[in-house]
Amino acid sequence: MNAPIDDNTPSKPSNFLRGIIDRDLEQGTYASRRWAGSPGDAAHHEQGQPDPAKIRTRFPPEPNGYLHVGHAKSICLNFGLARDYGGVCHMRFDDTNPEKEEQEYVDSILDAVKWLGFGWSSNFNGQPESHLYYASNYFDHMYRAAEYLIEAGLAYVDEQTPEEMRANRGDFSTPGKDSPFRSRSPADNLTRFREMRDGQHPDGSMVLRARVDMAAPNINMRDPAIYRIRRATHHNTGDKWCIYPMYTFAHPIEDALEQITHSICTLEFEDQRPFYDWLVDRLAEGGLLKQPTPRQYEFARLNLTYVITSKRKLKQLVDENVVEGWDDPRMPTIVGLRRRGYTPEAIQLFCERIGVSKADSWIDYSTLDIALRDDLEHKAHRGMAVLDPVKLVLTNWDEVMGSGHLEPCALPALPHPPEGTESPVRQFTIGKEVWIEREDFEEVPPKGYKRLFPGNKVRLKGGYVIECTGCVKDADGQITEVLATVVPDTKSGTPGADSVKVKAAITWVGVADGVAAEVRLYDRLFTDAHPDAGGKDFKASLNPDSKKIVTAYVEPSLAQAQPDQKFQFERFGYFVADRKDHAAGKPVFNKITGMKDGNWAK
Ligand code: ATP
Ligand code: MG
Repeated sequence: MNAPIDDNTPSKPSNFLRGIIDRDLEQGTYASRRWAGSPGDAAHHEQGQPDPAKIRTRFPPEPNGYLHVGHAKSICLNFGLARDYGGVCHMRFDDTNPEKEEQEYVDSILDAVKWLGFGWSSNFNGQPESHLYYASNYFDHMYRAAEYLIEAGLAYVDEQTPEEMRANRGDFSTPGKDSPFRSRSPADNLTRFREMRDGQHPDGSMVLRARVDMAAPNINMRDPAIYRIRRATHHNTGDKWCIYPMYTFAHPIEDALEQITHSICTLEFEDQRPFYDWLVDRLAEGGLLKQPTPRQYEFARLNLTYVITSKRKLKQLVDENVVEGWDDPRMPTIVGLRRRGYTPEAIQLFCERIGVSKADSWIDYSTLDIALRDDLEHKAHRGMAVLDPVKLVLTNWDEVMGSGHLEPCALPALPHPPEGTESPVRQFTIGKEVWIEREDFEEVPPKGYKRLFPGNKVRLKGGYVIECTGCVKDADGQITEVLATVVPDTKSGTPGADSVKVKAAITWVGVADGVAAEVRLYDRLFTDAHPDAGGKDFKASLNPDSKKIVTAYVEPSLAQAQPDQKFQFERFGYFVADRKDHAAGKPVFNKITGMKDGNWAK
């Protein structure tokens, strides 16, 4: 590992990408870059000051769906490296495929990146400077690059049918066969290509191909298609073009025009790197791109257990109403994670912890939940909620406390407030009737049971010690009320309270001031840890119990929650007031995750 380059180099855990960046900074690989700030215009590379940004990375989604947790890894990586090295990360839409792209997706992607805590509106110094880019803004430049390749004998218009092209491409063991159109003159190719651009040929009738090497062992080098005819309205350029560049051609040009230094992508693009290099080198030779050209580096994509990370498959879940939209709290989309209650800090922490490597692996879903708990442990206010309520009646209340009396109670909202601060206090009351969990009473206690059973004493957390006396049942034998007596002068905080020793404290909510709430209990969307591995039908392992709705009672402080506010429901785990459906007087909470990992693995 290289020594830090300067005092700004942070002490982040190293990885192979930081190693590469350190090396490039040390060797001054990109020191000669000039920055004029408007990629794609002709003067861009000629003018400008030496680029003061040490590195330029980019996050280049295609706006064809909502981002998911895998993209979060790429966002944290690219924006994070730029932040840590005094560089800039470009927010760029790779919008070269008009049929599948929509403004709705563009907006949602920008929202997601912002929400995760990253931005594109300032430079390495924090000065205002926009770094939002669209590949479609470079269509003119890409077109010129294509004409240059044609003139240089490095591209040709191929009129073979798609079937012929496929057959002649060969495979791993067979070299490809030259197209009959491969030896056409540059002048003929140029005429044909301009006809393509001018709409004189039907969709799919011909393509422009790079002329590389039909016998290359890497099939990606066997004259890849670089432009196709497609009459489709583009979300940015409208109907200006009826030919569109292919990803393999467009992406390296985008990177080079924006003077990206480190073009970081997932491993499936490894086999495309030779063409990436071939293209930027040829175009740099022709003066269409400036040296030093960017280099591509691949890392292992995020695979998370019980989760699918493919926009196409996630879209299928939405389109087929398997879930209730892109932001369904069970979705691994960023909008879904957000609505579920995961915080940007937890997702960033998760991405830092999983790191980057070149070896594919599966990350256990619990890693994300642990990051969430680590983030919320000291931030989320505590509160009591009864999720499976049965009424507890304190039969001696009127006599010892007074008929209708409500006794004020209070507990800290944060058991461990930040140093030098005091916890806010939650206020609530106890009266003759309270809600308790049905599972906290047993008529005949199993061995070791410490909660309510006739003759046993427990503390109502933050309230009185009570002694259970029995229960009331309906005609079906269902318990409708648990009965107990209050042990006076035992309220928490009251002097002398400790004189009555009990083995358990149970959670509860007052009937008088508790508020009914809808609580949505979410679990994994799939029962299979690798739902789509090896082309498996992921819909075969949908978890039928991934969403359960209960009517709960919550203490007043929870009922006053703001939408999106996170809490720890004592004993149950972390919950969030639903961003969309929670409202004053009608609380709706989503379960984010339990207090610790359950026995899901069984
Ligand atoms: P999908 O396959 O889900 O449609 P994609 O790779 O086609 O995703 P893009 O919009 O092209 O989606 O992705 C933008 C960036 O996010 C790319 O650089 C891509 O490599 C990265 N990315 C996508 N999925 C993951 C993942 N699971 N882990 C890490 N990075 C990812
Ligand atoms: Mg993809």
